[in-house]
Amino acid sequence: MNICIVGAGATGLVAANELVKKGHKVTIFEAEESHGGLAKTMTIGNEKLEVYYHHIFTGDTEIIKLIDELGLSSELMWLESKNSLYINQKLYPFTSPVDLLLFKELSFVERIKMGMLVFKAKFIKHWKNLENITSKDWIIKNAGNNVYEKVWGPLLNSKFDCDSDKISGTWIWNKFKLRGSTRGKNINKELLGYMKGSFGILYDKLVEKIKEGGGKIYYSSAVDRIQPQEDKTLNVYSNGKSCNFDRVIVTTAPGILNKMDVPLTKEYREKLSKTKYKANICMILELDGKLSDYYWVAIARKDFPFVLLIEHTNLVKDAGYGSHIVYLSRYLDQKNKMYSMSDEEIQREFIKYLKIMFPNFDKSSIKRVHINRADYAQPVVVQQYSKILPEMKTPVENLFLASMAQIYPEDRGQNYAVRLGIQVADMVG
Ligand SMILES: Cc1cc2nc3c(=O)[nH]c(=O)nc-3n(C[C@H](O)[C@H](O)[C@H](O)COP(=O)(O)OP(=O)(O)OC[C@H]3O[C@@H](n4cnc5c(N)ncnc54)[C@H](O)[C@@H]3O)c2cc1C
Repeated sequence: MNICIVGAGATGLVAANELVKKGHKVTIFEAEESHGGLAKTMTIGNEKLEVYYHHIFTGDTEIIKLIDELGLSSELMWLESKNSLYINQKLYPFTSPVDLLLFKELSFVERIKMGMLVFKAKFIKHWKNLENITSKDWIIKNAGNNVYEKVWGPLLNSKFDCDSDKISGTWIWNKFKLRGSTRGKNINKELLGYMKGSFGILYDKLVEKIKEGGGKIYYSSAVDRIQPQEDKTLNVYSNGKSCNFDRVIVTTAPGILNKMDVPLTKEYREKLSKTKYKANICMILELDGKLSDYYWVAIARKDFPFVLLIEHTNLVKDAGYGSHIVYLSRYLDQKNKMYSMSDEEIQREFIKYLKIMFPNFDKSSIKRVHINRADYAQPVVVQQYSKILPEMKTPVENLFLASMAQIYPEDRGQNYAVRLGIQVADMVG
């Protein structure tokens, strides 16, 4: 078959690779100038680096299998991560159960309750029940109001902005489950996976395989129209030109498909419009030296403009960036006024608060700053999410949707993008 894939992110590339392996003719249209989507990279010093911070967990079996299949296993490193929670002007270690026991911001009983909740998450199999409760209410019910107000409330707020009170219990359950499971033999140590030379090498390899198999990729080629023909084939329009295909897989956010000129039903469009996303602003600082010894710092403060501080080079040491790499990340509504602030304003605001966190931080240690924005960064997983999810098979015959928002009850991530890519390829051909 002659198959078109819209989007050269992880899902699109994995689906293309699977279809090429089966002998199909594959063409990918990608809106941007390069592939990788949210996992795309840029060059810093002599090295590639993700524009948005990325790592994988030990339980991410689908992506580990793919890395192996592509002969890249020797490039996958398992590194010890040190995590922290920033609360009340202090950085608390937050990697192990012992760290939680020593966490003075909560009473002893609250610490035990919070620990039990995270522990219990691993054993919950009937996640559907959690669709009926918000993350907020689930935490308050199990660990108390103070645990929510001090720790999880601010974190949920900075991830979901104005929608934080609506987030389903399934979302936070998943986070507890995932984070608790990425450990080696020692439960006090968290191990995270990263590839030598960035995850970009995985996506470059997929592109190489797709091309070897006769597939084509067109960059700077946003698709804006998909029209079914009498013979059930589909015409795909990009840059004013059209090509004809037997099947089309769209891997963009549902909201992007909804904006395309496609004869979808009213019911399906309603589902597409209900699947909302948060945007992300991510600032990369190239610094002279480190800020702390932590890799991952979650900021439990509602007044802060960023929610995460990630000192990448505290995890990935000895890479060739020539600088210490720090990401500052903020999720927010596209309508939030911060999203339309200029890069200079964002930089000023973020650095002002960085100085509050680290009073000794000297601006002269900044070598370079890079600011990126992603319109569709995090699906908003509300209560009863399974009921609003658009089906992969759209009402237009031979047109399929495989988007990050359909990953459920798990949350987005490269591992699930790989799973989704394989799943949609199986469905199509
Ligand atoms: C800040 C941030 C941090 C993250 N951290 C991690 C992490 O630590 N670990 C992890 O595993 N995952 C992480 N992720 C998630 C991971 O990046 C995604 O799950 C994965 O990359 C999604 O791939 P995708 O192909 O489904 O979607 P996308 O990457 O969004 O790909 C969709 C592609 O479609 C293209 N496109 C859009 N519109 C059109 C159009 N009209 N025509 C043609 N092409 C179009 C886009 O340009 C894009 O390339 C993170 C994401 C973000 C935003």
